[in-house]
Amino acid sequence: MSTRPEILFPLFAALTNLAGVGPQIAKTFQQLNVTKPRDLLFVLPHSGVDRNIRNSIREVNPPEVVTVEVEIGLHHPNAIKGRPYRVTVQDAQTSFQLVFFHARADYLRKSLPTGQRRVVSGKVEIFDGVAQMVHPDHILRPDQAESIPAYEPVYPLVSGLTQKTLMKASQAALDLARPMAEWIEPSLKAERKWPDWKPALERAHRPQSVVDLSPYAKHRERLAYDELFAHQITLALARARIRRLKGVVSIATGALQSKVLTTLPYTLTSAQERAIGEIADDMAAPLRMNRLLQGDVGSGKTLVALMAMLTAVEAGGQAVMMAPTGILARQHLQSIRPLAESAGVVVEILTGSDKGSERDAKLAALKRGDIHLLLGTHAVFQKDVTYHDLRLAVVDEQHRFGVRQRMDLGGKGRAVDVLVMTATPIPRSLALAQYGDMDVSVLDEKPPGRKPVKTVVMPKTRLDEVIRHLKTAISEGRQAYWVCPLVEESETVEWTAAAERFRSLRLALGDDRVGLVHGQLAQVEKDAAMAAFVAGETRLLVATTVIEVGVDVPNASIMVIEQAEHFGLSQLHQLRGRVGRGAKASSCLLIYSPPLGDAAEKRLAAMRETEDGFALAELDLKLRGAGDVLGVAQSGLPRFRIANLETQSDLMKTALDDARLLMGTDPELASPRGQAARNLLWLMEQDQAIRMISVG
Ligand code: ADP
Ligand code: MG
Repeated sequence: MSTRPEILFPLFAALTNLAGVGPQIAKTFQQLNVTKPRDLLFVLPHSGVDRNIRNSIREVNPPEVVTVEVEIGLHHPNAIKGRPYRVTVQDAQTSFQLVFFHARADYLRKSLPTGQRRVVSGKVEIFDGVAQMVHPDHILRPDQAESIPAYEPVYPLVSGLTQKTLMKASQAALDLARPMAEWIEPSLKAERKWPDWKPALERAHRPQSVVDLSPYAKHRERLAYDELFAHQITLALARARIRRLKGVVSIATGALQSKVLTTLPYTLTSAQERAIGEIADDMAAPLRMNRLLQGDVGSGKTLVALMAMLTAVEAGGQAVMMAPTGILARQHLQSIRPLAESAGVVVEILTGSDKGSERDAKLAALKRGDIHLLLGTHAVFQKDVTYHDLRLAVVDEQHRFGVRQRMDLGGKGRAVDVLVMTATPIPRSLALAQYGDMDVSVLDEKPPGRKPVKTVVMPKTRLDEVIRHLKTAISEGRQAYWVCPLVEESETVEWTAAAERFRSLRLALGDDRVGLVHGQLAQVEKDAAMAAFVAGETRLLVATTVIEVGVDVPNASIMVIEQAEHFGLSQLHQLRGRVGRGAKASSCLLIYSPPLGDAAEKRLAAMRETEDGFALAELDLKLRGAGDVLGVAQSGLPRFRIANLETQSDLMKTALDDARLLMGTDPELASPRGQAARNLLWLMEQDQAIRMISVG
C-alpha cells in the first residue's frame, strides 16, 4: 500500500509529458492547481459551444457561435493601414464577411481560395449592419469538417491559457487514464445508474449537449461521489483506527451523578438524558470513544459534559475538559465546581497563566490523582502534564479545531475516551464532511421556559436612542453586552475601538457600571472584568468577539452588536445566544452602517426571522459557500473539485454510510473492492488515509 499503484503512474507523471504542454504552459497551469495529468481530469468544463453544422448564419441570433459551409468569394486586403483584411463568403442563404486583423495575406489566400468551399465556425455578429465573423475558430475543407466537435467544451481559464491548449491537454490526460476496477458498491451503482469511472470522465470532458454539463448528470454525479467517497473512507479509517485501539472500560455507578442532579434546580431535558446515555454506553465499552456532542447555543452541553466526566470519576479515574479561551475555562470552573464539590469531587483549573510553584503543586496533585476533574485551556495537554488515570477528554467549542488536530489528540497514545462539543450548529452535509470519523449525539431540544429573543435591526444613526434605552434598562437592574466591530485586518484596531466605545459608554452610563474585556488585556484583568459582570457589579460589558463562544451570564438580557453587517451569520447567532438564558425577556440590537450590501441585508433579515441555529447555518452555507463557513484552512476539510456540499448533501451521507460499511466488512481493504478503494485513495491523494493503512 505504501507505493502508488502502477496503473496511476502516467497520471502522476510530469505535466510536460502531455502533447502541447511545455514548461511555460505547465507553469501557467499551476494557477488552476494543476501540476500533473491527474489534476486535469478533475478540471471540468463549465459550459459548451454548439458547433453543429447549420445551413446558414440566418439560423442563429447574432452574436452567437455558428458553424456553416460557405463558398469563398472575393478577398479585400487591408488597403488602409490598420483596417482589417476581409473575405466575403456565401452560405446557403446569405453572404457575410470573415474578418482578420493583422492578417498575413499570403496565408489567407492559401487557406481561403476564392471559389472553393470551406466549413467555418466562429461567432457571427452584426457590425455596421453587416454580418461578420472575426477570426473564425475553425476553417476546414468540407471533407475534414467532422474533426470539429459538434459540442465543444469550455473550461475555466486563467490568463496565459487558451481553450485549445486546455482542451488538448485534458484530452491527452484522459488518454492516460486507464479503466480501473470499480470501488463503488455494486448495488448503489446500479440503483443510481452510474457509469464506470473512465466513461464518466470521458462524458464529462466530451459533453454532447448542455445536459451533460449539469451536476445532476449521471457521469458528473458519479465523479462527485468518488470525491466524497474517498474523503469518507479516510474518515472511516480514522474512526476504525481509533475504535480498534483498546479503550478503558469506565462503568458509571450513578452515585456521583445522582448527587449532582439532586442539587440542580431543574431536571434534565430528554435530549440531555439521551446524550448522557449514549456517552455512558461508549465509555462502558472496551473501545475508545470518539463522540461529537452537537447542540445549539444554550442547549445545555456543559451539564452533559459534567455527567460524562463524573462517569470517569465514578469508575475511579480522572477527566479533563479543554476550552478555547481562559475566560471560558474559568466560567466552566465557576459553574462546575460547586456542583462537583457537592458530590465530593475535586475540581481544578490549569491555564497558561499558571506558573511556578502553584503550577507545580497542581501538577503533582494531578499525578497523585488528588484532582478528579481538570478544566483549562490547551495547557492541560502540555508535555509535562501527567495524569494519574485519565479516562475522558472533553474538548469544548470544537469548531476551532480541525480533523487533523483531532487525529493528533487521538494519537497521543492515551487510551482516553474523547468527547468533542460543537458550539455552532453546522449544516448536515458539512457535519458529515467534517465529523464523519465520529459518532454523533445531538441536543435538539432546549431547556424549557426559554423566552424568545426579540431581534431588532437598526442603522448607526440611531445610536443615541440605543444608549437611552440601555440607560433605562440598566437602571431597572438588567445587564447587557455591547460587542464592538470586528476588524479582521488588525487586532489592534479592534481593541482600540472597544476601548473607545468603553470610554464613551462610561460617560453616558456612569463609570462604575461599565466593564471592558478584550483579547489584549492581561488574564487577571479579563478575569476581574468577567467576575464583576457575573456578580452584577458592572451592568454593561463592552467586549470584542472574545465573548462569542460559551459565556453564560443568565441575568444578561440585552445584546448590542455594532457593525453587525461585518459578522457572519453563525457568529451573530453565537453572540445572540449569550442572552435569552434567564427568566427575563431578552433583546438583541443589530446595528449597521448604511448602506447595507445585499448579502449583509439577507443575513440581518434572517437573524430577525429565526432563532433556529440549524436554519441559520444552512442559510449561511448558501450565502457564503462551504469553504468559508468552516474556514477551510483550519478545518482540514478538502476543497472538493467536483462535488458541491451545498447541493449534494445526500451524496455525502451515502458516501459516509458506504465507507463505514466497507470498513466494517473489509477493514484492511484487502478484498477486490477494498483494493479498488485503495486505488481511489491514491487517485484522490488521500495521504492521511494511505499512511493509516500502511501502518495498519
Ligand atoms: P451551551 O450548550 O450553549 O454550552 P450551557 O451548557 O452553557 O449551554 O447551558 C446554558 C444554560 O442552560 C446554563 O445556564 C445552564 O445552567 C442551563 N441549563 C442546562 N440544562 C438545563 C436544563 N435541563 N433545564 C434548565 N436549564 C438548563
Ligand atoms: Mg457551552
